[in-house]
Amino acid sequence: MTDVHTTSVKARTIAIDGPAASGKSVAGAGVAARLGYRFFDTGAMYRAMTWLALRRAIDAHDADALVALAENARIDVREAPVGDAERTIVIIDGADATPHLRDADVEAHVSLVSRVPGVRTALVRIQRDLAAEGGVVMAGRDIGTVVLPQADLKVYLDASRRVRAERRAAQMRGGSQAPDIDALMADLARRDGIDSTRETSPLTAADDAEIINTDQMSIDEVVARIVELAS
Ligand code: C5P
Repeated sequence: MTDVHTTSVKARTIAIDGPAASGKSVAGAGVAARLGYRFFDTGAMYRAMTWLALRRAIDAHDADALVALAENARIDVREAPVGDAERTIVIIDGADATPHLRDADVEAHVSLVSRVPGVRTALVRIQRDLAAEGGVVMAGRDIGTVVLPQADLKVYLDASRRVRAERRAAQMRGGSQAPDIDALMADLARRDGIDSTRETSPLTAADDAEIINTDQMSIDEVVARIVELAS
């Protein structure tokens, strides 16, 4: 890969949105590394909030309790050291949620927690603070539409549900569970459904986003394309 000199890069704030397992986090971290920017995966924040709610035995349908939790929790978001599986570290109310972000019960409840408007308001405030200085790549569902509508570059990464399920399965093959592609596709369909149809900040490409379908692309190609768009 050729080096990119940050001074020649026009986009100081880059928003990357897309559905689950579309490669936002890997691609976003790759772009940030190339440009010398910071990278934040906002999905990690919704996951950490979900983990805390489960720990406190809060019902994922109890919106008032979830909003109270989100408004009062101390949330510290940091970049993970290079090479860590998670790119974004989230310390919530003093506990490190990072090792639990992919737990099955978090996976099952995160879309319910993140559809609550007051939860989103609390987390969007933190996300805007993180991006305020510029030199940032932020990935999520609503970064280009709601969190950073003034972002210099907006990218929407898409991929078919089968390709996304296969990528998820490839990540899991190192682990103890044997991945079941049909079950993974069903779970992606469930999450896509909740994320795209919720009333507040549904998953959708911003009007001015560059849409990249990554079905036939390697991660390096996706990174190179976004860096090119940013320059
Ligand atoms: O990106 P990831 O799959 O880790 O996100 C987990 C969940 O968090 C999503 O399915 C979505 O419900 C929620 N999310 C969101 N807005 C964001 C990022 C994630 O609603 N900006």
